[in-house]
Amino acid sequence: MSERPRLTVLSGPSGVGKSTVVAHMRKEHPEVWLSVSATTRKPRPGERHGVHYFFVSDEEMDKLIANGELLEWAEFAGNRYGTPRRAVMDRLEAGEPVLLEIDLQGARQVRASMADAQLVFLAPPSWDELVRRLTGRGTEAAEVIERRLRAARVELAAEPEFDTTLVNTSVEDVARELLALMKVV
Ligand code: ADP
Ligand code: 5GP
Repeated sequence: MSERPRLTVLSGPSGVGKSTVVAHMRKEHPEVWLSVSATTRKPRPGERHGVHYFFVSDEEMDKLIANGELLEWAEFAGNRYGTPRRAVMDRLEAGEPVLLEIDLQGARQVRASMADAQLVFLAPPSWDELVRRLTGRGTEAAEVIERRLRAARVELAAEPEFDTTLVNTSVEDVARELLALMKVV
């Protein structure tokens, strides 16, 4: 039997359904700890500080980076995002499974600094379906969607760098597969 993977990274293009899958998984398994990132992006309706993200100013983000408080960070579609290091390390030291939902650049940084991390890529069933989901979410202006779709082409091309690919056709199926990969169930 293989050992429990210590840290799992979930990446995939914007709009593929990462947040939806993670929310579904945590409804049934609240013990799965998800890192809360810091971001300079403005909250979407319904997003709460400390729950979905720590919403910070540019100056606060500068400080987090300068003080080495982020495990990884990246600029994505005009905003900066980063993983607070301390909370992740505390969980890992306690032997608890940790999940990061971050972009490709962040996944590469984790790969470089933590050799035993498990990298999971969430792929859309098709390009057209990805466009439909990103547009259908209705949370971004047209030019932001364009920007995210340009980034999505780059992210999709990087799929072979990941250990495992899950195709998000059914939220329930993907959540179950992800739990199995994390050895939670
Ligand atoms: P991400 O976190 O990857 O940016 P979201 O979780 O916000 O993506 O999902 C983008 C949109 O796609 C949302 O409107 C969500 O309800 C929808 N969605 C997610 N997964 C599926 C799925 N398996 N089938 C159909 N729609 C989905
Ligand atoms: P959104 O603005 O849609 O919430 O997130 C945009 C992108 O940023 C997504 O690909 C998401 O996974 C990524 N992201 C969220 N938090 C982090 C983080 O802490 N680090 C990195 N590198 N990417 C992140």
